[in-house]
Amino acid sequence: MERPLTSQFKKDNAWLGLKAYEARGGYRALRKALKELAPSEITEMVKDSNLLGRGGAGVSTGFKWSFMPMGENARRPKYLICNTDEKEPGSFKDRVLMEGDPHQLIEGIIISAYAVQADYAFLFLRDHYDLSRIRLRKALVEAYEAGYLGKNIMRSDYSLEVHIHVSTGRYICGEETGLLNSLEGKRAIPRAKPPFPQICGLFGKPTVVNNAETLANVPHIVERGVDWYKGLSRSDEGGTKIYGVSGRVKNPGWWELPMGTTLDEIVNGYAGGMKEGVKFRGLLPGGASTDFLIEKHFGVKMDFASVKKAGSRLGTGTIIVMDDRTCPVGFVLNLMHFFAIESCGWCTPCREGLPWIEHILSSIEEGSGEEEDLAILEQQVKLLAPGHTFCALAPGAVEPLQSALAYFRDDFRTHIKKKRCPWRE
Ligand code: SF4
Repeated sequence: MERPLTSQFKKDNAWLGLKAYEARGGYRALRKALKELAPSEITEMVKDSNLLGRGGAGVSTGFKWSFMPMGENARRPKYLICNTDEKEPGSFKDRVLMEGDPHQLIEGIIISAYAVQADYAFLFLRDHYDLSRIRLRKALVEAYEAGYLGKNIMRSDYSLEVHIHVSTGRYICGEETGLLNSLEGKRAIPRAKPPFPQICGLFGKPTVVNNAETLANVPHIVERGVDWYKGLSRSDEGGTKIYGVSGRVKNPGWWELPMGTTLDEIVNGYAGGMKEGVKFRGLLPGGASTDFLIEKHFGVKMDFASVKKAGSRLGTGTIIVMDDRTCPVGFVLNLMHFFAIESCGWCTPCREGLPWIEHILSSIEEGSGEEEDLAILEQQVKLLAPGHTFCALAPGAVEPLQSALAYFRDDFRTHIKKKRCPWRE
């Protein structure tokens, strides 16, 4: 059912339309792909470009595609799914792509689907992204009418249908295999891997799932080539990255910058540094499920390898800044509340562990915490480590907690000693 829109959202922008996109060179890459390149050549180009998945895992996109069964004997239909179900607190990068340049994403989907020879593509969209849905729908209609979608695209042998599927609105629906169950109309619980989706995915058929930002890069790689794309980056990882900053900074927002731009340049340069009257304490570099980094890490390059080396993860590249007017215990408690209610409940450590952690953090914040609680929290972090749960939700959820216990331990202790939150004085 259509949701009512604000008057701001009703406004149509000509610059988002097909004609404006074509005037900027749009759909030239699709023409090149269909007329000049075999599907396997596109996969090789994407592999060579070192485009790492922008959804958070950082897996090589071309490598992922290379597991799709190809040729006449491949099981049909094959699917490509564009995952835009970004629901993690602080993450908003796919939204700007869908609202700001919907045709770029659609062109990326078509070329990528051609590379893996998918018959159908789904745009799996976050439920609250009304403006994205409206703009994507309009762009899809234009693309169909122009012959960029449907049967025999641009008079080639390739045909593709693209559908928008609005998520049912739970965080776990964005997990790669929970998403497949959700699309099939089942409870959105993650599936065991192997088999991987490329072999047994949507409705048991070969399926590749990619993030929206990842796919939006593909037309540029195809049109301008691997060397050009790699040259955009300041690290070994190809291309550009959308970085976002939220928190009490002077200029919160998002910027497309060379992969490997430093934290200092992003937070103190583009985001303008901290607002008057507040001091920097720490940040989550890649969304709510990543470890804190602190001031000594400002020189870290924001790419997958460098952030990992610094003890965190690039994740979605959307930075959440914490200042000295924010209680670290309350900050982590807030995140833990989100992850506890978003646990799908399929495995015991996550279903029981996250609410327990939330309960302990809440008692520390309210002034009834005890010194032993810190040891219990540390034990819980170990119990929810990667490999102990069915999917990555729980290990990701405890990342801010484990680093807060390391970097802001004195704040936890002060709560316990004073039997109240010092930020509420
Ligand atoms: Fe579900 Fe949490 Fe287990 Fe993932 S880790 S399967 S979200 S209960």
